[in-house]
Amino acid sequence: MKILVVNAGSSSLKYQLFDMPQGTVLAKGNCERIGIDGIITHKRPGQSDFKAESSFPDHQTAILYVLKMLTDKTYGVIDSVDEILGVGHRFAHGGEKLRQSTVLGDEELEYLESIVGLNPLHGPPAISGLRACKEVLPNVKHVGVFDTSYYSEMEDYAYIYPIPYELYEKYKIRRYGFHGTSHRYVANKAMELMGKKDVKIITCHLGNGSSITATVNGKAVDTSMGFTPQDGVPMGTRSGALDPTVPTFIMKTEKLTAEETEKLLNNKSGLLGVSGVSSDCRDIVDAANEGNQRAQLAIKILVHNVKKIIGSYVAEMNGVDAVVFTAGIGENDRELREAICKDMSYLGIEIDEKINATCPRGEIADISASDAKVKTFVIPTNEEYMIAYDTQNLAK
Ligand code: AMP
Repeated sequence: MKILVVNAGSSSLKYQLFDMPQGTVLAKGNCERIGIDGIITHKRPGQSDFKAESSFPDHQTAILYVLKMLTDKTYGVIDSVDEILGVGHRFAHGGEKLRQSTVLGDEELEYLESIVGLNPLHGPPAISGLRACKEVLPNVKHVGVFDTSYYSEMEDYAYIYPIPYELYEKYKIRRYGFHGTSHRYVANKAMELMGKKDVKIITCHLGNGSSITATVNGKAVDTSMGFTPQDGVPMGTRSGALDPTVPTFIMKTEKLTAEETEKLLNNKSGLLGVSGVSSDCRDIVDAANEGNQRAQLAIKILVHNVKKIIGSYVAEMNGVDAVVFTAGIGENDRELREAICKDMSYLGIEIDEKINATCPRGEIADISASDAKVKTFVIPTNEEYMIAYDTQNLAK
């Protein structure tokens, strides 16, 4: 069964064609500079990449080009688009109604349009991508997979903010949580590795955007991201959680508008803001190793905040069976994993430093110390596979 996974951004459209249920990636690529000019990179495992300039005035022309590439005599991997049985669309936000992966008909599309205010950056391009795909592939099921849906069963006391309740009722201001597809994938893998589902897991998705999620018996009970992906631990350029008066104080003293303040906290803060070096963890680690004190401070702040959230989730769940590291930093930065897990033996979290330092990149690794009460895993994330998995189930 061939399933196409699409992730549409404002000027890009990423795609992967899966052969399910095996989960083999047949081809993948990215259309970039949509609305400007157009570049496509098309890759097939074990074969040379195809890269070309084109004209992509909108998402529809881009998806048409993708279908042409997938069925091309030389670069294609299928004979006809009729082989595609479903298209999975990544959506950052499903609001309060789209609580699980769903086939997207007119009603769902209308609802997604009604909540773009909650998700102004990712919502509109994802909807354009969906509309374009529906137009060119009208006879297949289009499935929405939402980053928020993993958190849809959290208790109200975990998602309601302590502000006037009417603001929740009026504007749906609440904790939604993001990166759910990644957390669900790695939490499921951890359950598979442990051979049981009745476990308490803390998954640390540490990348350019970072979030930490607590999962009990396969269900998320808490997460560090909130109303937007701005909450929680410091990220590449995002501040993460702050005293709520910090933004208003900055607005008043620096005479900034709400939009300018949001930009400052979204694009100029986090690891970049503290280090002044870069938003990329590798650059910061290099600078820290060369003695740059602000780069060293940025790393210490990240480690401190991740530790604090792990500790709070252990308290919330009354224990933990496994901690998982994933995404760019979590999968690759061994020193950071070691720093986070240091001095957590009281909680039962202890890693084997040698295994942590030598485990091969891109592979699942059990980095726990042999006598640790809690398992610590490194698990490469695969959101696209999760989207293809949900899509095949709904497209069948
Ligand atoms: P992601 O958003 O998951 O793609 O992760 C991007 C982040 O992962 C960036 O901050 C990168 O610096 C970081 N990263 C990727 N590879 C490495 C590595 N080998 N060592 C440290 N950080 C890495």
